Amino acid sequence: MAQSLGNNARTPEPVETNKSIRKQADFSTLQVFQEMESYRSVTELMGIHNPFFQQIEGRAGPTVSIDGRDYINFSSYDYLGLNGLNEVAEAAKQAIDQYGTSVSASRPTAGNRLIHRELEAKLADLYQADDALVFVSGHSTNVSTIGDLLGPKDLVLYDALSHNSIIVGTKLSGATRKSFLHNDLADLENHLQKSRHQYERVLIVVEGLYSMDGDISDLSGLIDIKSRFGAWLMVDEAHSLGVLGARGQGIFEQAGVDPRQVDIWMGTLSKTLCGCGGYIAGNRVLIEILKYQASGFMYSVGMPAPVAAASMRALELMQQLPERVKRLHSNGKLFLKTARQAGLDTGNSQGFSVVPVIIGDSLRTVKICNLLMDKGIFTIPVTYPAVPMQQARIRFFITSEHSAEKIIYTIEALAALLKELEDQSFGLSEMLGE
Ligand code: PMP
Repeated sequence: MAQSLGNNARTPEPVETNKSIRKQADFSTLQVFQEMESYRSVTELMGIHNPFFQQIEGRAGPTVSIDGRDYINFSSYDYLGLNGLNEVAEAAKQAIDQYGTSVSASRPTAGNRLIHRELEAKLADLYQADDALVFVSGHSTNVSTIGDLLGPKDLVLYDALSHNSIIVGTKLSGATRKSFLHNDLADLENHLQKSRHQYERVLIVVEGLYSMDGDISDLSGLIDIKSRFGAWLMVDEAHSLGVLGARGQGIFEQAGVDPRQVDIWMGTLSKTLCGCGGYIAGNRVLIEILKYQASGFMYSVGMPAPVAAASMRALELMQQLPERVKRLHSNGKLFLKTARQAGLDTGNSQGFSVVPVIIGDSLRTVKICNLLMDKGIFTIPVTYPAVPMQQARIRFFITSEHSAEKIIYTIEALAALLKELEDQSFGLSEMLGE
């Protein structure tokens, strides 16, 4: 019974909750949780250990310590091995002394620090752009740039293998979204021919180097298409910075293209630049809009000064140490060539910094990762739904600091394991719906 509080205010009627409604408030009834549980019980039944969330001790370089044992590490994106270099650590320490560990609020509110603007100027220089803006997360850089720039009258065309952050941003924008076949410019052009006229703005989003497959975009072809159809081109350089081109400047250097022809450059500070966060570089108007409209910038804390300082120093080192880029290229080529010679399926990888070895079945892939651990090799499986069904793979992130000897040892160990397990069926993956 509702009690009168005067002024017609009423306390809410007690809701008659029956059993099934009460059940809906229980997280464990969510389908996603039930799927996770059935996967867990099958892997437990088969004695397959969960390879995720390993406890890493100390710095993860070309080798890594886990539970007191050293492993060859292929699971970090520290492509040029800059993370933990004295110069980088010193830059972060000095920034802590000067600014503290946090800037404590968003930059519009709590203000810029000089190091923010220095880093942004350096990133803008890299792309010969007017300006740049750094966000505290690479993921939210994509989500809020795409999500807040586009609207319901617009179209986003993204490569079918795009990172989750691109897809989430596209959903948030309310624009019509369509994916085109991976790296297939004829398919992209087809979409534009059919439907460009139905939309106001069109954004094409690609990655410079794809992190699941290790292949690269055709930047010149994309620039030609976007110019003919009056679209914007956004390129996510998360895995290309420090990797592509003789000086590691990214896909534009690799393709010999003027970077000013790309409308929106996006990248992350978490990989080669051994910090955390993301950036957008582009023309003055774009950056001005994002400064005031991108929710992940406007309503989120500014980048901690020590992180900005570490990335700034890492960017300088990337430019000063082209020999590291060269070493990375030769390691990538060695890995790809040796893996192919051993009969491993490396998909479309072009042998820069990412080489997947496609195994197919998810459980078999997890099992092989665990067996590689026994041989002192740390890798992580990528399974369905992160990749299409029967396309589960082990991804190898190669850095300038891996030795040729360890690369060859790893491939030999993997090829031997695959041979040993050839006849064992892991059909339970199919039972789980893969
Ligand atoms: N873009 C791509 C292509 C990525 O692979 C990632 C994550 N690895 C991101 C964006 C998000 O970056 P971050 O992890 O730095 O948030």
